[in-house]
Amino acid sequence: MPLHAGIHLPDDEVGNCRQFAYLLRAEAQHLGVSFRFNTQVGRIVPGPEPALVHTNVSPEPSRFVVHGEDDRAGGDTLPLAHAPDTERFDAIVVCAALGASPLLRPLGLNLPLQAVHGYSVTAPLRHHETHPEQGPRSALMDERFKVAISRLGSRVRVAGSAEIGGSLRQHNKAALATLYKVLHDWFPGVARLSHEQRWKGARPMLPDGPPVLGQSGIDGVWLNLGHGSSGWALACGSARLLADAVAGRAPAIDTEGLGVGRLKA
Ligand SMILES: Cc1cc2nc3c(=O)[nH]c(=O)nc-3n(C[C@H](O)[C@H](O)[C@H](O)COP(=O)(O)OP(=O)(O)OC[C@H]3O[C@@H](n4cnc5c(N)ncnc54)[C@H](O)[C@@H]3O)c2cc1C
Repeated sequence: MPLHAGIHLPDDEVGNCRQFAYLLRAEAQHLGVSFRFNTQVGRIVPGPEPALVHTNVSPEPSRFVVHGEDDRAGGDTLPLAHAPDTERFDAIVVCAALGASPLLRPLGLNLPLQAVHGYSVTAPLRHHETHPEQGPRSALMDERFKVAISRLGSRVRVAGSAEIGGSLRQHNKAALATLYKVLHDWFPGVARLSHEQRWKGARPMLPDGPPVLGQSGIDGVWLNLGHGSSGWALACGSARLLADAVAGRAPAIDTEGLGVGRLKA
């Protein structure tokens, strides 16, 4: 189909979210932040010094599928199981996306969070001596299919689809076929799909769009949830807003329409 029109956004940028998260973690650890990985929070105990009841759990199997195989086929050594631990904090920020509902419901807060699943396929760009610059230079959005194609160094990523319900483990062939089609429409033959990495993820959505940020109405418990399809883009701003609110500083932006009150109404 010929291209009829497009919007060029010269300031648009592409980033590697996974790499960003690894670097952020290293920086936070350097500043003294302590992380607990493979730890499942079972319960929140609200109060002036709120607490978390948590248990160590086996690492989740990877959701990346490489060459059609689970990339952890060899298995892992498993952590020893301990009895649940209770830890007290000055404040608790719930940012567990869809895992927030079972933590908040027993405390009387029933948020209308829903998973909208999507897929991405990432593959190395084929190297052609005569056409070294083939493939996308930055990001491109195909508005017919709402599919994004972006360049990540020497790889190309194509992402999209909106699937309500279902499970993260079940991959929908038709949704993946749309990603391959859009990639082929725009950049035929550029990717080595035999070396692809497939991923399915959940966008945690609230019915009216924006995330819910700030006080939960439960003593000592704060919310940073429901960022839908823009969780990475909104992550630093949301964290800044929360940090200011918890520390009692005036937030840098207007928080009207971001509080939990709008969802209770
Ligand atoms: C295909 C696709 C493409 C996307 N592209 C973009 C994009 O280009 N830009 C963008 O900004 N966003 C994008 N998103 C959206 C983005 O991925 C989400 O908005 C973001 O991941 C939400 O972040 P989160 O931290 O709130 O939730 P999550 O990433 O789901 O993280 C929640 C974490 O909480 C943990 N957790 C849950 N319950 C518990 C518990 N009881 N105890 C301990 N831990 C718990 C989970 O294990 C998980 O690690 C995309 C999403 C998809 C599916």
